[in-house]
Amino acid sequence: MTTYSLTMREDHADLLRAHLLRGDGNEHAAYVLCSRAAIRRDPWDREAHERYHSVRVIPVPDDQVLASSPGLITWSTASYVRALREAAAQGYVVAVVHNHPEAMTWFSSQDDSNEPDLVQLAVNRNGDGTKMLSLLLTADGQWAGRVWLLPRAGAHAPLRIVRILGRRFGLHYEGRGGTASLPAFHRQALAFGRALNDDLARLRVGVVGCGGTGSAVAMLLARLGVGQIVVIDNDIVDRTNLNRLHGARQQDADAMRPKVDVVAESIAAMGLGVKVVAIEAWVGDPECRDALRSCDVIFGCTDDHEGRLFLNRLAYYYLVPVIDVGLAIDVDRGAPPVLRALDGRVSVLTPRETCLICRDIVSAEAARGEAMKRADPEAYEQRKAEAYVVGERNPAPAVVTFTTELACMAVNEMIQRLQGFRDPDGSTAHRVRKFHLGEDRRPRHDPRPACPICATEDVWGCGDVEPFLGRVA
Ligand SMILES: [Zn+2]
Ligand SMILES: [Zn+2]
Repeated sequence: MTTYSLTMREDHADLLRAHLLRGDGNEHAAYVLCSRAAIRRDPWDREAHERYHSVRVIPVPDDQVLASSPGLITWSTASYVRALREAAAQGYVVAVVHNHPEAMTWFSSQDDSNEPDLVQLAVNRNGDGTKMLSLLLTADGQWAGRVWLLPRAGAHAPLRIVRILGRRFGLHYEGRGGTASLPAFHRQALAFGRALNDDLARLRVGVVGCGGTGSAVAMLLARLGVGQIVVIDNDIVDRTNLNRLHGARQQDADAMRPKVDVVAESIAAMGLGVKVVAIEAWVGDPECRDALRSCDVIFGCTDDHEGRLFLNRLAYYYLVPVIDVGLAIDVDRGAPPVLRALDGRVSVLTPRETCLICRDIVSAEAARGEAMKRADPEAYEQRKAEAYVVGERNPAPAVVTFTTELACMAVNEMIQRLQGFRDPDGSTAHRVRKFHLGEDRRPRHDPRPACPICATEDVWGCGDVEPFLGRVA
């Protein structure tokens, strides 16, 4: 069985809300062009998943509306045919959107009987197999939706979840806030309410990189009640990182066990009902694609430029928020060394925020060197000796209390975006904690004018393209 979901950009959702909820109590309509990601197997429920992403909002103009009342809207289909034409040209799916009065949280029998005609029109225009999404916005701002698979009464499947992605991460699904959680999470609900526990239980979260910070992030997510976690890393436990790697023991180093297995096993042993999947691979390997595209949130805890560059693209293409972290400890060469900087950074990547390249976090040159090292280690060593490539640093300084605090900062940013415990302006796209100065800074960055990732909307939510994460014309 295939399941379905939709991620909508916050600015798109705001546009729709302004067009649909006008305070007149009447129904209004719009379209959203959506791209697609075809996931062959979700790593947790092990079923196919089709994920849609909002690309463009097209309001139905008032002069094309034939009737609008609190229980009904009818409009001329000319604008729908135009939307279908654009969808066919771009490989998109059309979502038809309308609003309902407060008490009606699902589609009406009127919708059930009207919508097959719109699906039939889509099939006639764009060919057999054309799907149509139908989205509903209730008066109190809740989203629900379904996917029409055939132009026939009843031939639809619900959207498992609707995500609104922006300064906040809004999750819309049936029964939110009404589920009984494990006793372990009751005191958390006393602080943040039951809806957060429900959100966390539904969340699919990726942790890329299982070193000092990544292992701490994964453990914290599990203890917070995140229901589905995937950990991705291609390294093994080593004696030199036993003190920082949460969950690791001497025997794991002796047995040269993959970090992901050790972290996954520790999480399973907590008995908190977390489904945890371990993938021993580099994040850019094709075997990670289904898992990454299945995620609602990804934590980037790798220390390589190439991995960061990969997640940087993925965040914008698939509207999966990436929370990227980094710890920089800079000391002089003295004995004992004198600290020059001790910085922990948490960067959130979403559309309308600057990408990691434009924030000067990743270097394309260093990434090229890493790519060469993975593909052809001998050539890499030779070119490094000749100083043609940027070499990696010698073991960088690391201290467990700071890698772990950085993990807390990153996970707390996710809680803020889900629950909003800080003030309304509390979500921070870029936070640098100057541990040695005892202060936080929130520097702002602007996109570089020609950046293909964050300076234009071209790739935002474009979903599956050939080649994977390739340039869209
Ligand atoms: Zn309706
Ligand atoms: Zn950029």
